[in-house]
Amino acid sequence: QWGVLRQDLLKTIGQNNYKTWIEPIEFSEVSEGVATFHVPTNFIGNYVSQNYGDLILHQLTKSGASVQRINFKVPANLSTRPAASPAAKPAAPKAEDTRDNDIAGAPLDPRFTFDSFVVGKPNELANAAARRVAEGGPVTFNPLFLYGGVGLGKTHLMHAIAWELQARRPELNVLYLSAEQFMYRFVQALRDRKMMDFKEMFRSVDVLMVDDVQFIAGKDSTQEEFFHTFNALVDQNKQIIISADRAPGEIKDLEDRIKSRLQCGLVVDLHPTDYELRLGILQSKVDSYRAQYPELQLADGVLEFLAHRISTNVRVLEGALTRLFAFASLVGREITMELTQDCLSDVLRASERKISVEEIQRKVAEHYNIRLSDMIGPKRVRTFARPRQVAMYLCKQLTSRSLPEIGRRFGGRDHTTVMHGVKRIEELRAQDGQMAEDLELLRRALEA
Ligand code: ADP
Ligand code: MG
Repeated sequence: QWGVLRQDLLKTIGQNNYKTWIEPIEFSEVSEGVATFHVPTNFIGNYVSQNYGDLILHQLTKSGASVQRINFKVPANLSTRPAASPAAKPAAPKAEDTRDNDIAGAPLDPRFTFDSFVVGKPNELANAAARRVAEGGPVTFNPLFLYGGVGLGKTHLMHAIAWELQARRPELNVLYLSAEQFMYRFVQALRDRKMMDFKEMFRSVDVLMVDDVQFIAGKDSTQEEFFHTFNALVDQNKQIIISADRAPGEIKDLEDRIKSRLQCGLVVDLHPTDYELRLGILQSKVDSYRAQYPELQLADGVLEFLAHRISTNVRVLEGALTRLFAFASLVGREITMELTQDCLSDVLRASERKISVEEIQRKVAEHYNIRLSDMIGPKRVRTFARPRQVAMYLCKQLTSRSLPEIGRRFGGRDHTTVMHGVKRIEELRAQDGQMAEDLELLRRALEA
């Protein structure tokens, strides 16, 4: 039965995903409505559970198994492999693997190209700068420093540059790696007394790309070596491209001389996505899915809904869409709003916009035309007390703050005061149409 199911999964999620995630899984047993699968690592288990759990469960029930839940488990003999086992590797396992192919950087993801990078306001500058560097002409800005939050496309752009350079200037020696890998190489070279080789190798590249450079913050000798490598390459007029999760000046525990070095080229940031960009990314993903799922129907409004609701990062957005398509294709149904909400309920819940107490106070003060200081201050006249209670009520409703926490943010008031305020507004809401309307208006403004 698992064999048949696997075949279905292969068709649904594609060869690559299948090989990576499903192949390593073994069916173990069904007992009391719980199907257990063995996975080699918890990581794989979690990933599969999150991304394909619904799918597998659905398949199982469809094929007649009475299963309510599935469970992924690392079998005991794997998780507690004895140290003496011949298969166990000593610490620092990578030593042998990389010694002979020093120059190999990290593999490049074939999906991360300029073609597949959707450009919008938040990333147009970064995209333009990346393209300029990728043209491989004379070095214009050195280094190019890309920064931005998680999942906004830094790695994607770096890989795109590397692919483009390889295509246009195959004679160039382009090295892409993460700052973490840079450190490993360095430590390994130290340990193997191969610093000369290390230096020579890094100084012989034409284009050096180091991803997530914030990783070396606080790691003194790695920073030192990075600094020398950096200088040597800049001196030879070789292009350097760096990414980080924040601007150079804001990386803590990074030496000042490195900060200033990183700042002397072009520093561009990837801004958080806006609605239009998210919609564009979803649309381009859907286009690429069309080939894989030619028969799938997508209802109007679904993409807009997702772009509106999932604003955290692009990776989450993509993951949601992938899951939605896989699920819909498996159950052979149109992707409707309802299916979307069902299939992605956890993602949607997790990405609910967080509304802050300060935002609520500001909006409510504005609405009642009072000053923020009076809202938080000690005055107890009705003109201030009522808006204050409204704000407290909304904090209770729209944030996950506890009553004491809310009290503290209202000028250090007691939690019983907050509780009283919340109760009062609840009563008014029931009796007073105007109050009900105000609350509704405020809630909508805050959730927009
Ligand atoms: P970062 O390195 O900034 O954390 P990534 O480059 O790994 O983020 O991007 C996360 C995911 O989102 C990747 O799958 C990437 O392809 C995708 N992505 C991010 N921005 C875009 C974009 N503008 N167009 C298309 N895909 C994007
Ligand atoms: Mg990255």
